[in-house]
Amino acid sequence: MVEYTPKERLVRALTGKPVDRMPAVSFTQTATVEQMEACDAFWPEANYDAVMMAKLAEAAHTVVGFEAVRVPFDITAEAEFFGCQIKEGTKIQQPSVRGHVVKTAEDIDKLKGYSLDHGRVGVICDAVRILTDKYGSELPMIGSMLGPFSLAQHLNGDDWFMAIFTDEAFVLALMDFTTDFNIAYAKKIVENGADTMVIIDPTASAQLIGVEYYEKFVVPFHRKICDSMHELGVPVVLHICGDTTQGLTLMESSGIDAISIDQNVDIATALSKVKKSLIVGNLDPVNVLWNKTPEIVREESRKVLDAGVDLLVPGCGLVSKTPTENLQAMIEMAKNHAY
Ligand SMILES: [Zn+2]
Repeated sequence: MVEYTPKERLVRALTGKPVDRMPAVSFTQTATVEQMEACDAFWPEANYDAVMMAKLAEAAHTVVGFEAVRVPFDITAEAEFFGCQIKEGTKIQQPSVRGHVVKTAEDIDKLKGYSLDHGRVGVICDAVRILTDKYGSELPMIGSMLGPFSLAQHLNGDDWFMAIFTDEAFVLALMDFTTDFNIAYAKKIVENGADTMVIIDPTASAQLIGVEYYEKFVVPFHRKICDSMHELGVPVVLHICGDTTQGLTLMESSGIDAISIDQNVDIATALSKVKKSLIVGNLDPVNVLWNKTPEIVREESRKVLDAGVDLLVPGCGLVSKTPTENLQAMIEMAKNHAY
């Protein structure tokens, strides 16, 4: 039987080609305190410095055994880039967005004409380059960014969900702006060496805004990002939090290669709703990976695999206090799974 490098295996799996066995990766954030201690690169500094970020991303491979490297570890770099106030976070907690910069359509115009070289967006691209130089020929380099809908929400604040129902012109203008940014940023991440793109768009959920608004305000924008990545031969994974069952068919229609579902979605139902996209997920990062034993992780992984998931991965970003031995139990289950 042919044996692939981890890089070949993941690309083949994501593009629907046969592989020797399941890749063992995570499409959501990988950093944990045990990895920070093992590699001496800690949050919050590792969120702001490219060398430390690369070091901590690498630990997911060298310390835990994931067959990929992935950056970043949080979802605030994009809002920070546009001047939103950020709470820095701690060793165990990710940064969060505290202030917003877009109230009106005129505010959007003031943000135009940016250069992607500065701020944490530049730091993340530098970390991708460092990791690619070291592992590029062997390991998948997964680049991740906040998606356009959640970025719009970060820029606009809580008013965003009201605007969805009351101000179509503003919503479309802000979605155009964030999507153009996403495309430029994703291309830059790919130029620096990423071979897989993850869109984390936690609140772009049909469950939250309804199927009709999801179709109008999310699908065309995700499709534009997908098209731009596919032109470069880069597969796209989309992660949306919560119960996304109602939106799965629409998520697929935007051209996503793999849909990352969380633990609130039933795998069999998800598989029945999509035809082309892979369904990846959905081991509970809190109630299984963080809080249970390796034995339970293996049992729960077995259930996910038996349900027919295309790739066994965490259902959302890892909790920083997740034990390494639990992650290794999941990785072992994925590696031992032949298709
Ligand atoms: Zn999530």
